[in-house]
Amino acid sequence: MTDIQMPLPEEVLTAIHILNNAHQEAYVVGGAVRNFLLNRPVHDYDITTSAKPETTMALFKDYPLLLSGLKHGTVSVIFGKGKVLEITTYRTESAYKDHRHPDHVTFTSSLKDDCARRDFTINALCYHPQLGLMDFFHGLDDLNNRIIRTVNDPTERFTEDALRILRAVRFAAQLGFTIEENTARSLQETGYLLDYISFERIHDELQAICSSPHTADILLQYQSIFKIILPEIQGLDEQEWNRRCAAVNRCRQISNVVLAVILGSKDNADQAMRRLKYSNDDCREVKYMLAYKDVPLETDSDLRHLLCWLPIPVHTYFVYRKAMDPDLNTEAAEARCRKMINANVCVSIRQLAINGSDLAEMGIPGRMRGTILYDTLEQVLNETLPNDRKALLSYVQSKTR
Ligand code: ATP
Ligand code: MG
Repeated sequence: MTDIQMPLPEEVLTAIHILNNAHQEAYVVGGAVRNFLLNRPVHDYDITTSAKPETTMALFKDYPLLLSGLKHGTVSVIFGKGKVLEITTYRTESAYKDHRHPDHVTFTSSLKDDCARRDFTINALCYHPQLGLMDFFHGLDDLNNRIIRTVNDPTERFTEDALRILRAVRFAAQLGFTIEENTARSLQETGYLLDYISFERIHDELQAICSSPHTADILLQYQSIFKIILPEIQGLDEQEWNRRCAAVNRCRQISNVVLAVILGSKDNADQAMRRLKYSNDDCREVKYMLAYKDVPLETDSDLRHLLCWLPIPVHTYFVYRKAMDPDLNTEAAEARCRKMINANVCVSIRQLAINGSDLAEMGIPGRMRGTILYDTLEQVLNETLPNDRKALLSYVQSKTR
């Protein structure tokens, strides 16, 4: 126990108070304690308690409750808008089926046992407003030494639940921590078990990894893990891997840019991101970065073409280009694009000084109008024609005569 004082929101204090008054133990546990000690923002507070779920439900019967986690001992209490506390009974887990889900959970009255089922020592810290910090597995030392270490034997813990492999890598990427030697070795050895983890869970972890400040270091150190979850890049040699990792350092933590850099081609991105259940918007963004990865950015006409084709934010695209080629003057190109956008320079059919109705009036059949408008736009993008109604109409007339 230490005399650390952690400020807690009203509803957390209330919940602990209600449980303690009913002679039950209750502590804040996990991410909230870890993040507070690291001076990082705390998003949500989890409470671990000796109270059995029925007791918790009875004690909080005046509040709306969510019971979807009940079979794992979790009662979610709604204290107000956006204030949901997960209150979970001390538990142990046993006989993990399929390297992910415990066969059954057993409730226990021992806080230490509850901490022992948690993944890493830095996630097994508990805090009570009067009793202070509870640290059964030297989590505070690991936190101070910036180390990720499993609670108990790493091979056993990763074999029980292979998602922990990705969680270890993810915490290392987010926090810039080192994975302790044995934990790191076991993680590499049990990496093949990631085949048992659902694509949705891999997606969530990969997404978090790709928006972390230390992604590149982690990619370098745990190459084999990434090659398991992204078989598309299994064949990359050392030199190419190093080149991509160096580029990841320049991606400004924009996860789609990181993915574009790692995956390297439109086909890889399409296959990997669809499998891992990325949204259509994410897939499209990454694919477009890769489809236009080599287009020239020199002349205004180049940039007008880019703005015409690119259905994604220009900034994201330029971060990608700069990451791939740090010598490229993307700053100037981006500034010129912004100027064009602000000046409403014509880069789309919609912005042309003529439209489909004009062509209809000229007697041009419907099926030809699109092609003609695109051809006209091309002239405007190339600056062979000004975006001027008269000039465009006479161009169309000359083409269809
Ligand atoms: P985050 O900032 O990502 O929310 P967190 O530590 O709060 O980090 P959660 O996924 O919210 O992570 O889990 C809450 C706590 O539950 C963890 O701190 C850890 O103690 C425990 N935990 C979560 N997932 C696992 C797991 N797969 N195996 C063992 N313990 C886990
Ligand atoms: Mg959490």
